[in-house]
Amino acid sequence: MREILHIQAGQCGNQIGCKFWEVISAEHGIQPDGSYKGESATQLERIDVYYREANSGRYVPRALLIDLEPGTMDSARSSAYGGLFRPDNFIYGQSGAGNNWAKGHYTEGAELLDTVLDALRKEVESCDCLQGFQMTHSLGGGTGSGLGTLLMSKVKEEFPDRILSSYAVIPSAKVSDTVVEPYNAMLSVHQLVENADQCFILDNEALYNICLRTLKLVNPTYGDLNHLVSAAMCGTTCSLRFPGQLNCDLRKLSVNMVPFPRLHFFSVGFAPLTCSASQDYRTLTVAELTQQAFDAKNMMCASDPRHGRYLTCACMFRGQISAHDMDVQMSQTVSKNSAAFVEWIPNNIKASICNVPPVGMKMSATFVGNNTAIQSVWKRIADQFGLMFSRKAFLHWYTGEGMEELEFTEADSNLQDLIAEYQQYQDAMVDEEEIEADIYGHGYTLQEAT
Ligand code: GDP
Repeated sequence: MREILHIQAGQCGNQIGCKFWEVISAEHGIQPDGSYKGESATQLERIDVYYREANSGRYVPRALLIDLEPGTMDSARSSAYGGLFRPDNFIYGQSGAGNNWAKGHYTEGAELLDTVLDALRKEVESCDCLQGFQMTHSLGGGTGSGLGTLLMSKVKEEFPDRILSSYAVIPSAKVSDTVVEPYNAMLSVHQLVENADQCFILDNEALYNICLRTLKLVNPTYGDLNHLVSAAMCGTTCSLRFPGQLNCDLRKLSVNMVPFPRLHFFSVGFAPLTCSASQDYRTLTVAELTQQAFDAKNMMCASDPRHGRYLTCACMFRGQISAHDMDVQMSQTVSKNSAAFVEWIPNNIKASICNVPPVGMKMSATFVGNNTAIQSVWKRIADQFGLMFSRKAFLHWYTGEGMEELEFTEADSNLQDLIAEYQQYQDAMVDEEEIEADIYGHGYTLQEAT
């Protein structure tokens, strides 16, 4: 058994987290009362990665739900699958973080920390061999960002050899009107660079654009955005939840995807994209799926992969898909776009098939890419941060909680360094001699077909 402990923090973290549990429960045949009513043994084969089997026989999510105010917890509890969660694992304060990272990280959040860590240790103790943690949170608010990253640093300290994965929602002015979000996001990214092992970037700007342009929704709601997020999360965790070879645990995913420790931020693409109201039942071809999954329009991160280069990437197909078709499509994608992949990491694109499709679909593809173009997301945050910070606007909310200005400056320079590192690897070329010596060339290898 190789368990994962899921932590959801703050309003956004809890909303996307609950949606994730709802969708994976449906995939694994887990009913809202925790009982199993499924149709295939595959559903239960690796069920213990995310669920604990209680003595009563019910399946309980290995999840902690955290917030600094009770509101989101109440909605989580009363949601369709709210009864699944262990009641003791709802941990919340009363004061709220008021969209202030400092309150989440240093004051209000720090007061709740011990209670959270006690519950976390209890869950870890009940594991056979924990592979790591995954957190869902937003970076623009106060709790998910401030307390979320505080928790990550403590978990890293206490469990240094476990993998720490984050599903981080990046703020966008298109969906939120809180002005201090660039401060909160900047301070959070500073922490994620140091403490997370892998980070899936879910950018509200891109999610909003997909809803508007691809799904043609007039007024996208958080529900619509979260529908996309849950598709991305189910796709990226599929290789952890169902039997297979490629990226079948968090560490293997890290080893394949992270060539340099700081550059662990992934963009996610999903195909076919459909809105919750009109699920698409038409049968796609593998060629269409591949093309869509790689398409810049389908990326849940507002950075155009064509402006950067892929250090590594992985594509997970789901459904009854022929390994041969997939192989052909992937090879074609690589040969048509060879400049998009750094040539100094041979075979940096992997693909796999999971026979179980998402509920309500015949097939799907999820793409995870480590692309240097992600620097444009960091630039967007850094620019907005810089404008306010140069006038020290709103800073008193943070210094009032005991923060020093120096921490802002450090976060800024860390992010600038990160941007420079991406650029350096984007520009890096191999020597002509090295290319000639590379007898295998650069290309795609078929990893697995189950
Ligand atoms: P916290 O409770 O203090 O962690 O604050 P929030 O989670 O509300 O953080 C605010 C940020 O999260 C803003 O950038 C919001 O646009 C974003 N946000 C809040 N709720 C959701 C949600 O359900 N889905 C998505 N995609 N973003 C959200």
